[in-house]
Amino acid sequence: MVEGWPGRGQGWGVEFVRVSRWAQALEVRAACPRAVPVSGGTDVMVEVKAGRLRPAMLLDLGPVAELAEWEPADGWLRVGAGVTYTRLIEELGARLPGLAQAARTVGSRQIRNRGTLGGNLGTAATKGVCHPVLLACDARVELAGATGGTRLIDADGFYQGERRTALADTELIRAVWLRPAHGPQYFAKVGVRNAMTTAICSLALTVDHDRCRVGVGIGAAGPVPARARAAEEFAAAHIDWKGGPGRPLAADVVGHFADLVARAADPADDLRAGAAYRRHALTVIARRTLTWATTPPTTRPADHLRRHGGEP
Ligand SMILES: Cc1cc2nc3c(=O)[nH]c(=O)nc-3n(C[C@H](O)[C@H](O)[C@H](O)COP(=O)(O)OP(=O)(O)OC[C@H]3O[C@@H](n4cnc5c(N)ncnc54)[C@H](O)[C@@H]3O)c2cc1C
Repeated sequence: MVEGWPGRGQGWGVEFVRVSRWAQALEVRAACPRAVPVSGGTDVMVEVKAGRLRPAMLLDLGPVAELAEWEPADGWLRVGAGVTYTRLIEELGARLPGLAQAARTVGSRQIRNRGTLGGNLGTAATKGVCHPVLLACDARVELAGATGGTRLIDADGFYQGERRTALADTELIRAVWLRPAHGPQYFAKVGVRNAMTTAICSLALTVDHDRCRVGVGIGAAGPVPARARAAEEFAAAHIDWKGGPGRPLAADVVGHFADLVARAADPADDLRAGAAYRRHALTVIARRTLTWATTPPTTRPADHLRRHGGEP
């Protein structure tokens, strides 16, 4: 079926197609919906090595230049699915501080050099670092297919179940659209250690002074990454938007916000943590991030900005 496609090969019973142009990628995907797309391979190859995934065909998107680009577009940033964590940190850290903070927590330098935004969305594990940030930022995911054209869907609509997404098996993830930050953004993750560990729970918080909006996304706190909508609305109603950034909130407001975040969770008991611990940990990081986001930088602990860099 793939006769004539460039970069075609075969090994250990797997057909391998390497494409260098976006149009080619869509063509292969449409013709072979069972082909497994590969970007950085940091999830796919782990699954293959462990024997949990036996693909008949791999579609290597690594050389597709369009996927590795990001650009400003209509007041948004359109970030290609193939942009790596390292580039999110180095090139977009000032404009998308929440996403850059999340990227800094991923694996090791080698994983950050290969792992991509699109790959994190493709796997759609509830513990994936990008999801809480995309939810908190009201991001949109751009999906494309050779026949169906392009569609933009809200991040909230992209996650449809445990590792299930809105991506059709003839489509690919092209890009993610995010607004540049107009206020503080924070990402916090609780794990058994700081590096090379997946989240026991995680939270992203964005305060958008342009739109008078608070966004809260939570990860590893249920089968699907989720927004804490009641907490978002409660915090937005208590922030003094006219007073400008950095007006501390009363402790009881911050405490109730944290409780609302925990109520939005539907955590599991598993080997790494119990549901009660996950809920408690969420209240801690919810209180912490909202306090950071509403406290003037000069009154924060000295090492806070160095470690988190949460200002746009
Ligand atoms: C040691 C180690 C540590 C890790 N640490 C973390 C961590 O801290 N946090 C975290 O969230 N993850 C972590 N990961 C997982 C992984 O690095 C990330 O999920 C990463 O974002 C995957 O990106 P990738 O480009 O390597 O994806 P790939 O492995 O190439 O693909 C992942 C999935 O996405 C699909 N896919 C890829 N690109 C597209 C596309 N354009 N369109 C449609 N589908 C696509 C693939 O088919 C596959 O289902 C770790 C992995 C390892 C090995």
